Amino acid sequence: MSQVQTDTQVLGQVFDIQRFSVHDGPGIRTTVFFKGCPLRCAWCQNPESIPSEPQLLLYADLCIGCGACLAVCPERADEAEGAVSAQRPATCRVCGACADACPAGARRIAGRRMSVAEVVAQVLRDKPFYGDEGGATLGGGEPLAQWEFAGALADALRGEGVGVALDTACAAPESVLEAVPEQFDLVLADLKFVSPEAHCEWTGADNADVLSALRLWSRTMPGRIWVSVPLIPGVHDEAEIGRIAGFVRSLSPVPPVRLVPYHRLGDSKYAALGGTAPAFPGSVDALVEAAKAAFRAQGVELVEQ
Ligand code: SF4
Ligand code: SF4
Repeated sequence: MSQVQTDTQVLGQVFDIQRFSVHDGPGIRTTVFFKGCPLRCAWCQNPESIPSEPQLLLYADLCIGCGACLAVCPERADEAEGAVSAQRPATCRVCGACADACPAGARRIAGRRMSVAEVVAQVLRDKPFYGDEGGATLGGGEPLAQWEFAGALADALRGEGVGVALDTACAAPESVLEAVPEQFDLVLADLKFVSPEAHCEWTGADNADVLSALRLWSRTMPGRIWVSVPLIPGVHDEAEIGRIAGFVRSLSPVPPVRLVPYHRLGDSKYAALGGTAPAFPGSVDALVEAAKAAFRAQGVELVEQ
């Protein structure tokens, strides 16, 4: 399972390629967002990353009512009820015709099957800007859920002289986790909770694999792992932050931590998918300060991102 195919025709589902990212690892980076994630984090701000198949997003506020989408829809969207911008027939096959036709960017398909070669070609456009520190980051979604594609893409990019980071929720079988150090230059590994009960409650999954992955990678790729700690008001408290800081301190060698405070930049995507964004009111600034104090008390380095 962990064997990586270096064939550049390997296909994967990608929902975005973001240029000039400065929050997904060191330096200037190009982030490739993989579609599909086995976790269900309650605060997820990339809801389109969760299903592995493509989805249609409708941004009603951008619609100018031209009707171009109705004209091209093979599922007769004109029979659906409601405003033009909200029309998504029950039989929508996510063909993408309306997104291609929309002149206002009000319709977007999240998810496209791409080959390693296609992704590499897009990433290489940014290579002149990477300098010594930057490179590509594979994020998502969970890139390890498409291991064959992720591994082949990392191989191909490194073959082009591009450093590759993996941004992961650590949700993968042991054989894949063991193959990561050889395949990537840097890992940004999520640690959402140490308490298994809290991890189950807020992500829908146990965290035994996550803790194992962090122990494994801190030992087998020292200096090449950052631990990413989300801070969500009403979800994380000082006690849990203390447990997370204590766990990171127990790793050998101790990796640096980057704090990922809650934000609401993805709220509009929930509406675009026909749902409602979750809300976590409360002060994230207070959590950030508490976390900084907790990690410093444990002598853990904090990475500014
Ligand atoms: S994605 Fe295709 S089927 Fe779905 S609404 Fe658009 S044109 Fe119609
Ligand atoms: S094509 Fe775009 S702008 Fe025109 S009606 Fe459809 S959603 Fe609105």
